[in-house]
Amino acid sequence: MRIVVLGAGIIGVTTAHALAVRGHQVTVVDAEAGPANGTSFANGAQISPSEAVPWASPGSLRLALRWMTSANAPFRLNLRADPRQWAWLGQFVRNCTDGRWQANAPAMVRLAEHSRHCLLALNEAHDLNYHREQRGILRVYDRPEKAQAELAHIGHVMQDHDVPLQVLDPDGCAALEPALADAVASGRVGAGILAPTDETGDAHQFAIELAHVAATAGVRFRYGERVRSINSFCDHVTGVETDRDQISAERVVVALGMASVDLMRSLGVALPIYPVKGYSATVPVAGSNRAPRVSITDQGNRFVVSRLGDNLRVAGKADIVGHDRAIDQQRAANVLDDLFCLFPEAGDRSRATVWSGMRPMTPSGIPLIGASDMEGLYLNTGHGSLGWTMAAGSADLLAHLIDGQRPTIDPAPYAPVSR
Ligand SMILES: Cc1cc2nc3c(=O)[nH]c(=O)nc-3n(C[C@H](O)[C@H](O)[C@H](O)COP(=O)(O)OP(=O)(O)OC[C@H]3O[C@@H](n4cnc5c(N)ncnc54)[C@H](O)[C@@H]3O)c2cc1C
Repeated sequence: MRIVVLGAGIIGVTTAHALAVRGHQVTVVDAEAGPANGTSFANGAQISPSEAVPWASPGSLRLALRWMTSANAPFRLNLRADPRQWAWLGQFVRNCTDGRWQANAPAMVRLAEHSRHCLLALNEAHDLNYHREQRGILRVYDRPEKAQAELAHIGHVMQDHDVPLQVLDPDGCAALEPALADAVASGRVGAGILAPTDETGDAHQFAIELAHVAATAGVRFRYGERVRSINSFCDHVTGVETDRDQISAERVVVALGMASVDLMRSLGVALPIYPVKGYSATVPVAGSNRAPRVSITDQGNRFVVSRLGDNLRVAGKADIVGHDRAIDQQRAANVLDDLFCLFPEAGDRSRATVWSGMRPMTPSGIPLIGASDMEGLYLNTGHGSLGWTMAAGSADLLAHLIDGQRPTIDPAPYAPVSR
């Protein structure tokens, strides 16, 4: 079939590749000059099924209220005169019950873990170089009770999906990652939970590498071309209109991250996705032997650190502040402060590059993957804070659905039409 994939972020590239290996004739359209220049560009680099649980939980509203009083908090909310923001917040609040959490979390973990397996298969099939590290992800807590509480909260859902977790005492944390020794000695790290099968890697570099593989398999990439609208006839998709051309297709996949919302709105479809802005900084390790190799999630301060070759990537903040992607220098500096507070000699702060990105979040945390109401038009979007973690599995799931085959995991929780 002739299929057009809209967007060459991590979701679009993995989708295009999955469809091409099934024999489809695939074209990818992206407004940028190359792959993964949007939200996939400089994310936290974690492949983290162990963290694939909804942000909307019974405790999150209390935490959000507490954080709203502090300028440097991980979360910021600027209420705006924007009905879409209010509608999204209302849906988020409705997902904060224990019942919704218990329903949403398994769907997220199942997709994330399936995705990890799909990523393993891609790595076995191709020589992909993207600073991959398979050392697990260590969540750190200042007090052991917090680690125990977290384990009580997520342990069963991880166990149900074969995601192993190990509780570590402070010495165990420092033994696993010697760069944590000072933080352990000062009492800043009092316990850890290790997810040994989680991994890390540079999503941008991965997308470049996989796009190359996909191009070799026949995928045509049209960069620097902006999608304007979806073309249809009798409620059946016929292609897309870009700022340069008309492209005809039997199937169209919308994988535009945040921009999926506006495109679908032009068809009268309101996707439940709102931008949650985050920041990252990439810091040259600069020969420091005090920079971590194991990826760390600081659970209290809500930031992540990943080693990408000779750089460290730190990422954090969840700002619901509208659609403006501009970098707030104070927020970006906070992210760097977080890194150097935990790892004071990790690298050269003066050469750090800061970045911001818009997580395309659904209120439940579950992405939208599957057929839309229009015949031949599919969605693969709304991956929020877990697009890199879920990309390969989302692509595999959608490719099965487009081919009318039974997917490896139940597609029902991700179906866009019921949402
Ligand atoms: C600070 C931060 C840290 C994060 N850390 C992690 C992490 O550690 N692990 C994890 O799994 N996830 C993480 N995420 C989330 C992850 O980065 C996203 O979920 C993911 O990048 C979304 O990918 P996407 O392909 O859907 O969107 P995008 O990467 O934004 O891709 C959409 C593409 O569509 C293109 N486009 C937009 N409009 C048009 C148009 N009209 N015409 C043509 N092309 C268009 C854009 O150019 C872009 O390339 C993080 C996000 C942030 C912001």
